[in-house]
Amino acid sequence: MPGSGRTPAGIPDYRGPSGVARRHTPMTFQAFTRDPLARRRYWARSHLGWRLIAGAAPNAGHRAVAGLQHAGLVDTVITQNVDGLHGAAGSPSVIELHGRLDEVTCLDCGNLTSREELHRRLREANPEFVARVAAVNPDGDVDLPDGQVEAFRPVDCGICGTGMLKPDVVFFGETVPPQRVARCFAAVEQARALLVLGSSLTVMSGRRFVIRAAKRGIPVAIVNQGPTRGDGHATVCVDAPLGAVLPQLAARVGAGAPLGV
Ligand SMILES: [Zn+2]
Repeated sequence: MPGSGRTPAGIPDYRGPSGVARRHTPMTFQAFTRDPLARRRYWARSHLGWRLIAGAAPNAGHRAVAGLQHAGLVDTVITQNVDGLHGAAGSPSVIELHGRLDEVTCLDCGNLTSREELHRRLREANPEFVARVAAVNPDGDVDLPDGQVEAFRPVDCGICGTGMLKPDVVFFGETVPPQRVARCFAAVEQARALLVLGSSLTVMSGRRFVIRAAKRGIPVAIVNQGPTRGDGHATVCVDAPLGAVLPQLAARVGAGAPLGV
């Protein structure tokens, strides 16, 4: 269950090593859907930050996980990352628990479209929109003065014409689709072991799988820099950066029974 890493992949950590380090209060589903200004601010910042997200490439950790899968040592990857980089690294089986930033959903008609297409439409709707990128947030949005936010023109769904668009990621205050959670629980329960990679397990969204594994007597191993909220359930805890551990692990392990991750 890999978390995310800032430097190697070029995408800021979704939650930060301590689970609290972030510049902005995270967007909630309620604010996004009910507050037009909050929604405008989200899209304006996100529009500016998208190129950085879109340009990110898998790091050695992503490649190591994919290598473990191809070697038959890891079955399913459950990730809380929304950057799609496990798939880009060649991971054959990934459940993206919190969705993907490169897809956009219409809250009215339910159609899923690509973020690249939305990016093109937002550029056309905001031809003179220029702002300096000061910092990038975990969701790919950036610091932006209010005046520039007010000048930004979001767009509606290009298919039904009027629906509200939302990145296909799970916001705070929103629940993960139940079928997706069920797939994760099934993968965990079929596993001989659960390996947690780079997550502080701060939110129950990911921690519940550790709790389920522990209840079923499935060994849990955690590799993370710093303590996690799952440590009490773990058989093994390794306090180390993933970038140092994962490539070595992938290089050193031989054949064996599949691990569920
Ligand atoms: Zn629509």
